[in-house]
Amino acid sequence: MLTLDFHPAGRHFLQIPGPSPVPDRILRAMSYPTIDHRGPEFAALGLKLLADIKKIFKTEQPVVIYPASGTGAWEAALANTLSPGDAVLMYETGHFATLWKKMAEALGLKPEFLGLPGLEGWRRGVQAELIEERLRRDAGHLIKAVCVVHNETSTGVTSNIAAVRQAIDAAGHPALLLVDTISGLAAADYRHDEWGVDVSVSGSQKGLMLPPGISFNAVSQKAVAASKSARLPRAFWDWTEIMAMNASGYWPYTPSTNLLYGLSEALDMILAEGLDNLFARHQRLAAACRSAVRAWGLEIQCADETAYSPVLTGVMTPAGCDADALRKLIYDKFDMSLGTGLGKVKGAMFRIGHLGEANDLTLMATLSGCEMGLQLAGVPLAGSGVVAAMAHLSST
Ligand code: PLP
Repeated sequence: MLTLDFHPAGRHFLQIPGPSPVPDRILRAMSYPTIDHRGPEFAALGLKLLADIKKIFKTEQPVVIYPASGTGAWEAALANTLSPGDAVLMYETGHFATLWKKMAEALGLKPEFLGLPGLEGWRRGVQAELIEERLRRDAGHLIKAVCVVHNETSTGVTSNIAAVRQAIDAAGHPALLLVDTISGLAAADYRHDEWGVDVSVSGSQKGLMLPPGISFNAVSQKAVAASKSARLPRAFWDWTEIMAMNASGYWPYTPSTNLLYGLSEALDMILAEGLDNLFARHQRLAAACRSAVRAWGLEIQCADETAYSPVLTGVMTPAGCDADALRKLIYDKFDMSLGTGLGKVKGAMFRIGHLGEANDLTLMATLSGCEMGLQLAGVPLAGSGVVAAMAHLSST
């Protein structure tokens, strides 16, 4: 049971890379009364949302919205386009790429996991030339899809999706391109149509600033065509009926009405700010955060500066400092949540989220909490990250 002790003075700093803090404006929109999902007002809401969400994916193609977390939309992308036993080429960028591969196996697909050896792959983005080389060797076109994660939330590394598209084209290979931009969308630049993505998968609780609970498939015409012959079993996830009902602003089942109110508000906020301004804001905060990490003398998990994530920064803790013990100390002392290290990097890093409605002062408060926590944990710091980040922000 929740007690008053659970609510110390001030607000909790939710600085994990999703769920990101939900702006008050969105929370208020979500508190409107639930309406009849078969009534006329609902159709107006549905049509508005389905049109505006396309602008975020930068697509003219349909976007399917599911009442599910991102994991559901992962499954939908695979189940709608592929058949049992199909070979799929997946790329190991980190923990989420690994989970998507596990799901592909569970669904009866045959994933092949490409990547750099050891932990190297968890510090860099997708190496498109490895994909090109593998596809060139697949003369019989047995590989039906290439699956990559755009923004690997477990590490803070963003991959170049345009380069993956070019690699597939250079190999002259017909495989579908499926991209997880669950934490990338509405924070890092993303272009579904221009990059020739066949299915883009996303979720509500990251750049879109909503609570968890809705997720997306943006779908190319090639993916729709593939879905006509794909034989993986699917019912709830099937695009066909959803797209047919969406044409008039409705869903075949009861949609998550109040989350859709929130989505409508989030889209208004994002489109008013402008996507380019939003991306620049994220890049600037991310650069300030990295300047803090460097000033502390700690290492950034992403080892390729062309792949730094604007969404989050992964910070490697020095030998002898357990990152989860540090996170717990910061949580207990300063009421701030930081992201844990996942999978292969558990205990060796923590993640600072700077996405969604983040601004200069939320970042500065976050970095202050980190710096005080590092000092309390006895981690020797080379200097003040807070001072470095303030200098960065005031000079840009
Ligand atoms: N893919 C990425 C890149 C993610 O960051 C996450 C969640 O953090 C997921 C997939 C899984 O999404 P969900 O937890 O919403 O099911």
